[in-house]
Amino acid sequence: MDLANYSREQLIELIEELTLLNETLLEEKRNDDRLDFAWTGNLGHWYYNVKANKVVFNPLKVEALGYTMEELPDEVPYQFFTEKLHPEDYEKTMDAMKKNMMGLTPVYECEYRIQAKDGSWKWFYDRGQVTRRDASGYPLFVAGIVFDITERKMEMAELEMENRMLAVESMTDALTGIRNRGAILDELESRMEKASIYKSPLSIVMFDIDHFKPINDTKGHVFGDQVLKEVAKIINNEIRGLDTLGRYGGEEFLLILPNTSRKSALQVAERIRRKVAEEAFSNDIQVTISGGAAEYKDQEMLDLIDNADKNLYASKQNGRNRITG
Ligand code: GH3
Ligand code: MG
Ligand code: MG
Repeated sequence: MDLANYSREQLIELIEELTLLNETLLEEKRNDDRLDFAWTGNLGHWYYNVKANKVVFNPLKVEALGYTMEELPDEVPYQFFTEKLHPEDYEKTMDAMKKNMMGLTPVYECEYRIQAKDGSWKWFYDRGQVTRRDASGYPLFVAGIVFDITERKMEMAELEMENRMLAVESMTDALTGIRNRGAILDELESRMEKASIYKSPLSIVMFDIDHFKPINDTKGHVFGDQVLKEVAKIINNEIRGLDTLGRYGGEEFLLILPNTSRKSALQVAERIRRKVAEEAFSNDIQVTISGGAAEYKDQEMLDLIDNADKNLYASKQNGRNRITG
């Protein structure tokens, strides 16, 4: 149709007709959207008229953000939404949309946080594409669909937190709270690798509580457990940030000392031995520990542990409450 030949009245009549048609079609589309609402979080379709900078959307999209259609202006520019984007999500979201506008991608798809009226953040999943371009390829119309995925994101965050807690739990000795056997051996393996690469010294000390069986037998296992916890705590208090302590077996502790020579390891172990011997345990009992140190010299892990074990055995043979290395 050649609009140039239309009179002013004819044009007004035509616009009114088209507006009515537009509203009817939008209403129908909303009803279609509603059929899709079984999809959790579906907020329906939206349409962006690029030249007019006007966004038309299903009311659910703004209701999810805490607005009512009545309080919004008749025409909403795209900035109404983009200015509410989370600063950390702004760039990637705008980038995805721009790429599609420029015809670099067939569709765009992104997840972003958007601020609701009450200041809280909602997670939206948005997927859309340019549906019409002018002769020179300039985008005229973009259409998309948006989902509120806030709940799903919350559940994911909760699961991640649970996983992290489980991971820590699986590495921890339930009684003493220090690393369990598996975790301390993993740590030793990675420390050995680093020591080999950086040619830095690495030492270990194996501690064993002296005459622990009689403590258990005379004072009971509950008290024995208490002693184990206490000894782990004393050793932990005496070591530096890089050092790690684990429960190797029943009443045996493995201490890993990165960047530490055999000589320094002996000094640390001696200090720990003295601390335990000086500690006032309840039930008026005296607890002592013996230790065996060994320095890593590119041998296999089991050989390194065996070296420490042999020195521990020597400490036991020579009267206990001493360190050998
Ligand atoms: P030694 O000085 O030669 O090391 O003597 P010991 O009595 O400490 O040596 P032994 O290996 O015979 O005894 C270790 C004891 O540790 C045996 C076991 O009852 C006790 N034990 C191992 N694990 C636990 C635990 O988790 N809790 C308690 N209460 N006791 C444990
Ligand atoms: Mg023992
Ligand atoms: Mg033992």
